[in-house]
Amino acid sequence: MAEQSRYLLNDDQVPTSWYNIVPDLPAPPPPPLHPATHQPIGPDDLAPLFPMDLILQEVSQDRYVPIPDEVRDVYLLWRATPLHRAHRLERALGTPARIYYKYEGTSPAGSHKPNTAVPQAYYNAKAGIRRLTTETGAGQWGTALSFAAAQYGIDCEIWQVRASYDQKPYRRAMMEAFGGTVHPSPSDVTEYGRKMLAEDPTNPGSLGIAITEAVEVAAQDPDSRYALGSVLNHVLMHQTVIGEEALLQMAMAGDVPDVIIGCTGGGSNFAGLTFPFLREKLAGTMDPEIRAVEPASCPTLTKGTYAYDFGDTGGMTPLVKMHTLGHDFIPDPIHAGGLRYHGMAPLISHIYELGLITAESRLQRECFAAGVQFARTEGVVPGPEPTHALASTVDEALRCKETGEEKVILTALSGHGMLDMAAYDAYFAGELVDHEFSDELMAEALTRLPQLDL
Ligand SMILES: *Cc1c(COP(=O)(O)O)cnc(C)c1O
Repeated sequence: MAEQSRYLLNDDQVPTSWYNIVPDLPAPPPPPLHPATHQPIGPDDLAPLFPMDLILQEVSQDRYVPIPDEVRDVYLLWRATPLHRAHRLERALGTPARIYYKYEGTSPAGSHKPNTAVPQAYYNAKAGIRRLTTETGAGQWGTALSFAAAQYGIDCEIWQVRASYDQKPYRRAMMEAFGGTVHPSPSDVTEYGRKMLAEDPTNPGSLGIAITEAVEVAAQDPDSRYALGSVLNHVLMHQTVIGEEALLQMAMAGDVPDVIIGCTGGGSNFAGLTFPFLREKLAGTMDPEIRAVEPASCPTLTKGTYAYDFGDTGGMTPLVKMHTLGHDFIPDPIHAGGLRYHGMAPLISHIYELGLITAESRLQRECFAAGVQFARTEGVVPGPEPTHALASTVDEALRCKETGEEKVILTALSGHGMLDMAAYDAYFAGELVDHEFSDELMAEALTRLPQLDL
């Protein structure tokens, strides 16, 4: 019999609702606080930044939120995404483990990011907003939001972390192809950017700085709102279409995952794949280990502290309780730009504190090695971000080879790397370095955490 490598769904099997994990958790997540009063914020506090539909999703206690037809129709341009069995990687590793990957690289941006960019642009357009501002690291989020804004006829203005802007010129061209306007961050078009540049004209930027710039512009213009590509509850919820599809596809394959592995920057692709499986785990229908993999140079879960902190560097956002390296910690410019964020989604941080998931960190060279092995066997060049999950997947499969365990491993291939070839080029040239994480710099940044009397 022919060997099945792909599990595909029909359009009518694409989810009609997003899954909100909050009401299913054994304890509620700590509330976001107002940056000045330190009191829990209400919907009105967020109104200058987000449209009310998204604010209500952010605080929703409903287990399921219907996906509007206008959003689902755009999803159908590329959803459902395929689930693959990695037969060729398994054979190359000589493992008895069965490896599956859910591939989000077939979207317009080449990653999972349009899953939330599309509904965010939709709800903003519906509320009469004319321009979205945002930050981007590697450029994936800016690409996704540019595409999504174009779908609903609104403008998109993007602050891209300088290190990525310089490393990845094709990402900027792609954002522009979809109609977006791109500034390197720190930029001279915001007050905060000018302040940063005055202190250090060579500042490589960070997601935290870029967020401050995008928020500054949105907060000053009544026709503009800000959009965030990860971290927030509603963003994680939009991504659950990944896991809902994967549940159906794993059932088609006749397997139940023992381990689910995803990379975590802000946590959205990881949440998207794993939350529907976590729902099943909490209901007792399966018991997978759920593992987050982060870069060794930005180890928010494994080394950061769990505390209230700002989401941005400039201290304009609400305070959220999360694993953080400190809001002004600037991670080394690794090639997995999408994983260079000083914090972790509050919801992922909370779930980690509850002991429902595990976490580990990986150095970039072992990640690229796994990425190359994956490319040569499965025929997909992975983005630098999901190579972190692949490095952990390969190790897990090799452990199974030693023990003879036939574990079922499911991993999130959050995007392709076809616009990240400069990073692969540096890897092949032997120019990639494994940055040493500095506990001292983190400890120093953590001294500037906001002080709360709680
Ligand atoms: C942005 C990005 C990530 C990291 O962001 P999360 O919110 O943690 O998912 C991972 N992979 C790809 C391909 C990305 O574009």
